[in-house]
Amino acid sequence: MNIWFATNNTHKKTELQAIMNTCLKIPSEEGISFDPDEYGTTFNENALIKARELKKYIPKDDIVIADDSGLCVDALCGRPGVLSARYGMENGRKLASGEQNKMLIEEVGDNNKIRTARFVCAMVLLFTGDRYVIVQETIEGCLVKSNEIKGEGGFGYDPIFFLPQFSRTLAQLSAEEKNAISHRGKAGKIIAEIILKKCQN
Ligand code: IMP
Repeated sequence: MNIWFATNNTHKKTELQAIMNTCLKIPSEEGISFDPDEYGTTFNENALIKARELKKYIPKDDIVIADDSGLCVDALCGRPGVLSARYGMENGRKLASGEQNKMLIEEVGDNNKIRTARFVCAMVLLFTGDRYVIVQETIEGCLVKSNEIKGEGGFGYDPIFFLPQFSRTLAQLSAEEKNAISHRGKAGKIIAEIILKKCQN
């Protein structure tokens, strides 16, 4: 039985493999063209859409994990949220992470006192058809100011997400430190335990 991860994001694959301590197959590396229409309005809905879409293309007994994640900024009433990957997109051109980070910090404004934010990760484990488990986890933090964007680790919005308990951004943590506390780390560990229990039964 293979475990598939319904993503084309190799950063996410690397993280989840380390979190779950297992090998994951992703569609782009197996010759499967995978570009689901993420029309859901919640992380849960989009995770299930991705999982069900990939399930159509893989052997019957293989299982699928899909996650949908994003950054919810309190000063922006929860945006970009489910639209995090597409934040700042214009005429179909996706912005690079660095551009998205600058734009988001600018939109919030350095003088804005409301700086709290959280990453959310909904992760689904799809067995067959309507048999699935979904977990949703978060990590709380706050946004840096425009002259405090820091760190080379992780991906996406990590350099602008500050963790007061570490006095560092998520991008300044090692992969192990991030995985121990992150939204994806917490969700992935629960999913890994469920897979292990299923395999033992
Ligand atoms: P998804 O692939 O549709 O779930 O898009 C998730 C988007 O949210 C990514 O492209 C990133 O912009 C952002 N994101 C999700 N998780 C993280 C993380 O752990 N660090 C930084 N950005 C993240």
